Amino acid sequence: MPDPSQMLLLFSGGLDSTALAALLRPKVLLYVDYGQRPAEAERTAATNIAAALDLPLTTVALGIGEFGSGLLHDEESAALATAPSPEWWPYRNQFLGTAGAAIALQHECSTVALGTVKSDGTRHLDGTLDFYEKLNALVSAQEGGINVVAPGIDKTTEELLVSAGLDESVLGWTTSCHRSNLPCGNCPGCWKRQRVLASLSIPGYTWNAVGE
Ligand SMILES: [Zn+2]
Repeated sequence: MPDPSQMLLLFSGGLDSTALAALLRPKVLLYVDYGQRPAEAERTAATNIAAALDLPLTTVALGIGEFGSGLLHDEESAALATAPSPEWWPYRNQFLGTAGAAIALQHECSTVALGTVKSDGTRHLDGTLDFYEKLNALVSAQEGGINVVAPGIDKTTEELLVSAGLDESVLGWTTSCHRSNLPCGNCPGCWKRQRVLASLSIPGYTWNAVGE
């Protein structure tokens, strides 16, 4: 595992990156507004969780909104012929990993970490170990020598959260809706959050396995 004191972690304010932030305690958390519809909710979540964990947060805007599709972008483009899932945003993790590497240089970090977990690889190729090995090879070969890693890629969200030992005082701030700033309750992001928090017996969360 790379040294967390030299690590920048991409931080969306969702369950996965929150668990990794608590477990690894990286040098810097980076929130990226890349034009996703729930950007304001994610920024608020990221800000509150970073404060709760007492970790430094930096934010950046990445102007790739015009490249998006799927639920994170709008309702109409979810049916791109090549889309593997309704929330697919073409090349998103490649953009995020590359932007993170550039910001890591500014903070004198040697590693960029993304909050990908085990199940992501079944939904998108940019959530697979093969993708991260290739992105790391490309980024680390360039000036700056930044490494790109996905430290949670062989774990489930539930496993990470149990290890992190977080309770509702932190998890209550998390957000994961793909569609809007006010959680829609009816998208893969909302379903996952509800299911995971219910499985951890977080008060107020139940899951009836409908939809997902
Ligand atoms: Zn939603």
